[in-house]
Parts: sequence; structure tokens; C-alpha cells
Amino acid sequence: MTGSHPPAYAGGPCHECGEPWPCVSRRAELLREFAGCPGEAVAYLCDWLRAGVAERELRGLPPDPGMASRHLSWTVLLRQLPGGRAAADG
Ligand SMILES: [Zn+2]
Repeated sequence: MTGSHPPAYAGGPCHECGEPWPCVSRRAELLREFAGCPGEAVAYLCDWLRAGVAERELRGLPPDPGMASRHLSWTVLLRQLPGGRAAADG
């Protein structure tokens, strides 16, 4: 499940548009795919984040300081979307 904007490799850029992954297009897709399921989204993206850190290390690439925030910070939006189970929790 990597949509129309998959990563070139875990921890790498988007294969489609070359932006750091998940790119804006992929994040927009993820918002739709995980609407109402913020917990599942975080679990999915944590897997990618963990794989990305390992893959960059394997490839001898420097750590990407923006990676954690790019993978996870926007997932709070899922709680604010219609259908989000946690939306009423305040
Ligand atoms: Zn992209």
C-alpha cells in the first residue's frame, strides 16, 4: 500500500515526484486511506520510519532530521477529519 507516490526506497525520496517521502501527494492519499483510523496510520508510518532509518544506515546515508516529523506530524489531521473516532474526545 504505497499509492501512486511510492518511496524510491525506505527513507528515500518519492519515486514519482522526487520530494522527501512521504511527499505532499502521498500524504494527501494517506489522509483519505486512513480517514477515521489515526492509530492504524501511525502504526503504518512508524513501520516506514523504522525501515527508513535502517535503510539509510545500510546505504551509508546521513540521518534525515526531518524524517520523523514528515512521517508522523501530519497524522494529527486524521483526528480532525469526519469519521475520525477520536474526533469527539476533544
Ligand atoms: Zn511524490
